[in-house]
Amino acid sequence: MQKITLLGATGSIGVSTLDVIARHPDKYSIFALSAHTRVEQLAEQCMQFNPRFAVVSDAAAAQKLQQLLCESDASTEALWGVDALCQVAAAAEVDTVMAAIVGAAGLVPTLAAVKAGKKILLANKEALVMAGGLFMQAVAESGSVLLPIDSEHNAIFQCLPAGYADSGKNGVRKLLLSASGGPFRGRTLAQMHAVTPDQACAHPNWSMGRKISVDSATLMNKGLELIEACWLFDMPAQSIEVVVHPQSIIHSLVQYNDGSVLAQLGNPDMRTPIAHALAWPQRIESGVGDLNLFDIARLDFEQPNIEAFPCLAIATAAAQAGASAATILNAANEVAVQAFLDQRIGFTQIAEVVEHTLNCQPLTEPESLEAVQHTDNDARVYSSTYIKRLEK
Ligand code: NDP
Ligand code: MG
Repeated sequence: MQKITLLGATGSIGVSTLDVIARHPDKYSIFALSAHTRVEQLAEQCMQFNPRFAVVSDAAAAQKLQQLLCESDASTEALWGVDALCQVAAAAEVDTVMAAIVGAAGLVPTLAAVKAGKKILLANKEALVMAGGLFMQAVAESGSVLLPIDSEHNAIFQCLPAGYADSGKNGVRKLLLSASGGPFRGRTLAQMHAVTPDQACAHPNWSMGRKISVDSATLMNKGLELIEACWLFDMPAQSIEVVVHPQSIIHSLVQYNDGSVLAQLGNPDMRTPIAHALAWPQRIESGVGDLNLFDIARLDFEQPNIEAFPCLAIATAAAQAGASAATILNAANEVAVQAFLDQRIGFTQIAEVVEHTLNCQPLTEPESLEAVQHTDNDARVYSSTYIKRLEK
C-alpha cells in the first residue's frame, strides 16, 4: 500500500489523480490532501478518501474546513499554511507526493518532499522552472525518485532507455516536444489582441486549470516545458525541438543517433501519465479509453510560429541565458497571466510584460532557496509596476 500526499487536490490534476487512486483502493491510500481556497470541494474529497490531514492556505479556511469535517463525522484534521504543507509532504508515513499546486506556491512544499526522499510525481512545472538547479541537486542528494506528470515529459521518460541518467545519454540525440498549438493556432499576433480569458481557456484537446490554459494559448507553456525538459533529462535547450501536433495524440518523441525515433501515443487524458507515474515501473488501469487510430485517421505536424507566439522564443532565450533568467520569466509570467485573467491587460501584452521584466532585471546566480525567492519577488514587483503603467 502506497501512502500519498496530494498537494493541489482540488485542481484539474488533483481531481484526475483521485480518479485514478479511487480505482485502486488495494494499492493506494491518501495521507493528506491540500487546497488553496476551495474548502467545500476539499471537505467532500476528505469524506471520500479519509486522509489523516487536509491543508488549506489560511486560518479562516482551516476553521471552515474543520467545521465541515466535524459535521460529517470525518476524522481528518484541518491544518493551514506553508509549514503544514511541508509537514504533510515530508511526513515519515508518506511514500509518494503528487506535486499539483499551480505556480511558484508549490516550490517550498515540493522541495520539502524531495529533501525527505519521497517519490515525487511532478505536475508543478513552475517549481522546476524557477529553481531547477537547486531542485535537481536536492533530488540527487536525497535519492528521491522524480517522475514527470506533464504529458510530454512523461512521454519522453517512457521513450528513454533504461538507465539513461547513468549511461551518458545512450545515443539520445534530440528530444521532440509536442505542442497542440493551443486555441489560437493559425492566428496572427494582430488577430489575438482582443481575445478574452474565456476564449484563451477553451483548449481544444485538454481540460486544465486557468493558469496553464492561458500558458498553452500563448505557448509560454511550451517554453516552460522546454526548461522543465532541460532539467529533467539533463539536455541543453538546443537539443530540444518543439513540434506542433494539433491532435495531441503523440505526447512527445525521442530521436536516437541510429535514426530511430520513439514516441508515446495515447488519448489526451492526464490520467494516463498519472497512472504511469503512480504505478511505475508497473502498469495499472487508468480509466482512459483505448486509442482508436482508425477514428483519428491522421496526425499532423508543423513548426511553431514564433512571430505570432513570442512567449516561446522568450522562454527559449531564458533557457539559454541560464542563471536566474527562468526564475524571472516564471514570476513575470505568473503576474502577467493573472492580470490577463483579471482583464487588466490584453492577451498579447503577456509577452510584453515578461520580455520587459527579463530585460530590466539583473541576472544573478540562484545559489540558495532564499536567493531564488528574492529574485522571484523582485520580478513580481517589477512586472506588477509595469502592468500598472500599461493600464493607464
Ligand atoms: P488548477 O488551477 O486546476 O489547480 C491548482 C491547485 O493548486 C488547486 O488545488 C488549488 O487550490 C491549489 N493552489 C492554487 N494556488 C495555491 C496556493 N497559492 N497555495 C497552495 N495551493 C494553491 O491547476 P492544474 O491542476 O491545471 O495544474 C496544476 C499544476 O500541474 C500546474 O503547475 C500545471 O502547470 C501542471 N500541469 C497541469 C496539467 C493539466 O492538465 N491540468 C498538465 C500538465 C501540467 P484551490 O482549488 O483551492 O484554488
Ligand atoms: Mg504539458
